[in-house]
Amino acid sequence: MQDRMRPLIAGNWKMNGTGAALEQIAKLKTLLEEAGNIESDVLVCPPATLLHRAAQSAEGSPIRIGGQDCHSNPNGAHTGDVSATMLFDAGASHVILGHSERRTDHGETSQAVNEKVQAALSAGLIPIVCVGETEAQRLDGTANQVVNEQLSTSLPDNFGKTRIIIAYEPVWAIGTGRTPTLDDIAQMHAHIRTLLVSRFGSTGENALLLYGGSVKPSNAEEILGTADVNGALVGGASLLANDFFSIIVAT
Ligand code: PEP
Repeated sequence: MQDRMRPLIAGNWKMNGTGAALEQIAKLKTLLEEAGNIESDVLVCPPATLLHRAAQSAEGSPIRIGGQDCHSNPNGAHTGDVSATMLFDAGASHVILGHSERRTDHGETSQAVNEKVQAALSAGLIPIVCVGETEAQRLDGTANQVVNEQLSTSLPDNFGKTRIIIAYEPVWAIGTGRTPTLDDIAQMHAHIRTLLVSRFGSTGENALLLYGGSVKPSNAEEILGTADVNGALVGGASLLANDFFSIIVAT
C-alpha cells in the first residue's frame, strides 16, 4: 500500500476576476497563516492578466500560482496566445492543460495537449493534464476507453521523467453541482493509476491524481478521502477564499 502523498488543492478561476479578485489571494494567505500547518500544497490558477500580480500577492506564503493554458511554441506569430515561458516568467509554477473547456471551446485535441505538455516541461512548469468523459460516454459505458485514449495521446514519453499530475474531470460534473459516486471516482482513479504505472513505472505510482468537477466545501472531505484521490481541481468554489480554504483543510 502506497504512503499517503501530499495532496494538491488547485483552484481554476477560469475567465473570472479582475484586479479586485486579488483580495481573495490576500485573504487566503491570511487564512493559511492563521491555520499554521497545512497538509496540502495549494495552487491558484487565475486568468493570465492577473498572473503576475497574483504571484506577487502570494509571495511569502505556501500559495503557488499557475496558468490555465499555454501555447506549444515559446514565442512567435500567435496573436492572443501566451507561451509557457511567459507564464513561468510571470511567476507560474504549474499550468493546467487539456481542460475540457479548452477541448470544447477551442477544438483542442490530445495531440495538441501533448505538444503543450512538452512546452510546459521545457519552460520549467509542472503540467496538470485534464481528462474526462462526457455524460453520453459515461452512459454508453465508454468512459474508461475515452480516458485511455486521452491519456495515451496527451502524455509525451518524457513525461515519465518528471512529476505527473492528472486531473480526472468528468465533463458532466464541471460546474453542474453533480458529482460521480465515490465508487465511480475510485474506479476511474484506479484505472488511471494502472495506465500510468504500466507506461511510466514508479513515476506513475507517484503521480498525483486530482479529482475535479463540482468539488465544494460540503463534499470535499468525502471526495478527498476516496482511494487514489490525491487532491482536487476546483473551479467555482475556488473563487472565494473562505470556500477554497474549507476545501484545503478538508484533506
Ligand atoms: C474545473 O473547471 O476544472 C472545475 C472542476 O469546475 P467546478 O469545480 O466549478 O465544477
